[in-house]
Amino acid sequence: MKLLLPILLAIGYGLLMYRLSVWRTKRQLDANSTELADPILNQLTRQMAGALDLPRIRVFIYEIEPVNGLAAPDGRIFITRGFYQKYRNGEVTADELASVIAHELGHVALGHSRRRMIDFSGQNALRMVLMMIVGRFIPFIGIWIANILTSLVAARMSRSDEYEADAYATALLIKSGIGAGPQKSLFTKLERLTKTNAGAVPAWLLSHPKAQERIAAIETLERKWGQALRGA
Ligand SMILES: [Zn+2]
Repeated sequence: MKLLLPILLAIGYGLLMYRLSVWRTKRQLDANSTELADPILNQLTRQMAGALDLPRIRVFIYEIEPVNGLAAPDGRIFITRGFYQKYRNGEVTADELASVIAHELGHVALGHSRRRMIDFSGQNALRMVLMMIVGRFIPFIGIWIANILTSLVAARMSRSDEYEADAYATALLIKSGIGAGPQKSLFTKLERLTKTNAGAVPAWLLSHPKAQERIAAIETLERKWGQALRGA
């Protein structure tokens, strides 16, 4: 019991921290977002909702600068003001922004967004719990081990999630008549933007695998599904 109690306390504290950060994130999103009101984009989300047999897809603009898209566990999709501005400036097309919405919808549909909250806001809580537990048994290098374990879990989780969300988006974009073209052109565009801005990587790319590998994965799916459709 003497050994167990501190561990239970550490886990309890970690869970509390995690709940708190999820709650803070949700409040932040609620307070700083407004529903998307662009007629062209709304038409595209209606097309995607139709393909999914959903009454509607709720998309919001989140008032922050970094170019990013997020999915809340309750199914709402958020596009940052910075990303939306790129669309308004003509740097990103409506179809390309729709591919971001489709990708984020994939995270919701595949149940990633609930897990991703850990990635998003609670990763420190996990690290801390591990640090307290591992550090108790292995002094000094315990912190180092906890850090490695945390980043291993996070990296594995996000990499496979991204490919799955991409595949979902490819299928949805094809089914709703938008096609996978914009999904691929956006990756190329964002990567180019990264280079011209001298290392200012859009957050949406930073948290995701390499653009070239993602494009290749989408093309494999297009070929596979194309064959299946022709065969049918
Ligand atoms: Zn993603």
